[in-house]
This record gives sequence, C-alpha cells and structure tokens, in this order.
Amino acid sequence: MSIYKCPNCGEKAFNPLTKAMAGQLNSPGKVCMHCGRRIVNGKGATIFNAIFSVLAFAGIVITYLYAPNTRGTSYEWIADYELLIGIGLLLAKFIVPRLVNAFFFKMTPAIRIDPVK
Ligand SMILES: [Zn+2]
Repeated sequence: MSIYKCPNCGEKAFNPLTKAMAGQLNSPGKVCMHCGRRIVNGKGATIFNAIFSVLAFAGIVITYLYAPNTRGTSYEWIADYELLIGIGLLLAKFIVPRLVNAFFFKMTPAIRIDPVK
C-alpha cells in the first residue's frame, strides 16, 4: 500500500509535501480531500521524530560542552566550527523529520479530537 494513500478512505490523497506537513500523532494533522478525515503520520514517524530530536539536542549540548576542551588536540576543528555545528544540528532537528515524514512511514487517522467541527 502506498504511503500517500489516505488510511481512512484509501484514496491517494497526499504527496511528499502534504505528508511532510501533516505532522505526527500529537499534531492536528491534514484533512483528506476525499473523505474529510484528519490524517497524521503514524507511530513510526512519531517515534523517529522523538528519537531524532533527542539526538540532535544531545549533539548540541555535547558540542557546547566539549568544544572548549579540544584546543591543541586533533579535535580542534570542533572548537572552530562550534557555532556552525550547533546551527547545523538545530536546522537538522527541524528539517530531517519533515524529510523523513515526506518519504517514509505510513499515515494514520488523527486521534486528537478537534473541538471545532
Ligand atoms: Zn480519505
């Protein structure tokens, strides 16, 4: 089954862009244009995003703590690029999960109940 098919009505209602924007289980999701049901990226995407966010954040903290101690060592480049690495990881934290959502993992109907009908 295509990952771009709506899990509710089975129509091919999404593309990589709309799938990337649909968010994960904890987000309101994107409305299927065929059946009107809200759709989000499923458990796999949610777990991946959680793990990746933690890793990226850990990378930022480790770089911050580790960089000043690399002067005079063969790891001195970490100190030189500390800011760049930090920015890179921060960008990756936002971009990579969306890229992964666009091309991997099945979608699922949103479980969050929308108070406004
Ligand atoms: Zn649908």
